[in-house]
Amino acid sequence: MNVDNPSPIECPVCNEKKSNPWSSAKDYEYFSTNNTYIYYRCPACDTIFIDPLPVHELKVIYPSNYYSFVNKRKNGVVRLKEWLDKRFFKKIFRQLPAPELSLLDVGGGTGWMLDILKRTDPRIHFTQIVDIDAKAKSIAEVKGHAYFEGTIEAFTTDNRFDLILMLNLVEHVADPLAILQKAQLLLQPGGIIVIKTPNTDCWDARLYKKTYWGGLHCPRHWVLFSEKSFRLLLKSTKLRIEKLTYTQGAPFWAFSIITSLYRKHIVRISSERPIIFHWLFAPLSAFFAIFDFMRRPFVKTSQMFIILKN
Ligand SMILES: [Zn+2]
Repeated sequence: MNVDNPSPIECPVCNEKKSNPWSSAKDYEYFSTNNTYIYYRCPACDTIFIDPLPVHELKVIYPSNYYSFVNKRKNGVVRLKEWLDKRFFKKIFRQLPAPELSLLDVGGGTGWMLDILKRTDPRIHFTQIVDIDAKAKSIAEVKGHAYFEGTIEAFTTDNRFDLILMLNLVEHVADPLAILQKAQLLLQPGGIIVIKTPNTDCWDARLYKKTYWGGLHCPRHWVLFSEKSFRLLLKSTKLRIEKLTYTQGAPFWAFSIITSLYRKHIVRISSERPIIFHWLFAPLSAFFAIFDFMRRPFVKTSQMFIILKN
């Protein structure tokens, strides 16, 4: 970038050109690259986004040990999360009256979430995953899921889905609006889209932006929303928000704290030992899951669940 005459950076949600640098970050979670990335904040709509987009680095920034590509170990925190997920989705399934259900998980990796849902509702008869990882494909197919190796933009099918999951997905793509419009096309009439995405309007984002806020998941999170900016994005679609709730952001707290200790040379993390395998990750996640759960009735925590309908 030319410092004397910087070209104005356009906000990917409202297209305003008034954004200011908000945080500079590196990949402290996987050390997939040594580059520094700049995140900007749009003062008009609150969107936080990376610029330039590392679109040509996909194979590098999603290493083979990336968490959604590998099978999960079942410790206490994972089991608790699974129980909460089941409870959440049981309510969603009650709103879908069809005798047989088709599900699509965009960015679903090995199909671990679809496995949980299959155990939650016996009406699920077809499960489709769209993801970019070849290794996850064989694992997913063994478990009976259809798998398209590629992006949602490239995915074509005659199937229409009763439930589309985009859990921690919209923040990973260059054009979130295009993704939402594609999902709307793939949705059965009366179907539901469930989105989980970080919320930038939270304590930990403000507290850790100078060192490293875990919600950036740098450089894999490209566009990050608040409730305000997500509602603005939706105005360009025919989708409407049925419900928006805040949920615990325990992993972001853990990433933020462990990175801050790493930068003070108190703990070690490396590409061989990503943060999620650090011994502090599980206890910090457990603590902050409870912390966020308790304060959730009063403040906005760092992740949102958004339920969309046609
Ligand atoms: Zn904006």
